[in-house]
Amino acid sequence: MNVMFLGVPSSGKGTQAEFVRKKYKLAHLSIGELLRKKIDDPNDPEGQSIREKINKGILVDNDLIMRIIETFISNLSSDEGILFDGFPRSVEQAILLDKLFEKLNKKLDCVINMELDDRVVMERINGRRLCPNCGKSYHIKFNPSKIKDTCDDCGSKLVIREDDNEESVKGRLKTYYSQTHPLINYYKEQGKLIGIDATQDIESIAKNIDDILGGIQ
Ligand code: ADP
Repeated sequence: MNVMFLGVPSSGKGTQAEFVRKKYKLAHLSIGELLRKKIDDPNDPEGQSIREKINKGILVDNDLIMRIIETFISNLSSDEGILFDGFPRSVEQAILLDKLFEKLNKKLDCVINMELDDRVVMERINGRRLCPNCGKSYHIKFNPSKIKDTCDDCGSKLVIREDDNEESVKGRLKTYYSQTHPLINYYKEQGKLIGIDATQDIESIAKNIDDILGGIQ
């Protein structure tokens, strides 16, 4: 099964991905996490330019993104399903993914759109804490770690994402509405889109997603 999460920054894609990948044994393709790994690698020649783009909230070049996606997929076993989180970010990228899937003889089963009002975004982002090691997402109020600033799963010290500041978020929302939002129609036309209310609490959203994916399997 190949599944995709769409939604504004902070709609809960990473949080729900954690549960979905475990339960449905999917490989979690978090493009944000893969890009942050490149930024953190001092020997990566592309790290600095990726960092500048991410901090401004603008999209990284399609060539680079598609190279990362192809490498990720080529390292999976042929029957392993994928959970796409944060990719594609534009219709252009969605078309490139369709072509790649055609080449690999794979298909996208469903696209879950996490619907969240912009007014909630800042509150979610301001409290977000991230594990730099395993990528798990926390919130100081809505989803706190058991021990302050420490990852429940791997014990690493939690960090604030460098692009989780007001300036970057404004850029990310602008980019989202101009380039990513049109994907809703793109996947609606393919009959793959299912919307869910992402203002609910984490467990209720997980239940909604579980009902959807349980029906596909
Ligand atoms: P995304 O991957 O879509 O950018 P995250 O999963 O990182 O979003 O969630 C953004 C922030 O909101 C995190 O701090 C997370 O803990 C918190 N969060 C996620 N889902 C919910 C929810 N349903 N209710 C309240 N807070 C949530």
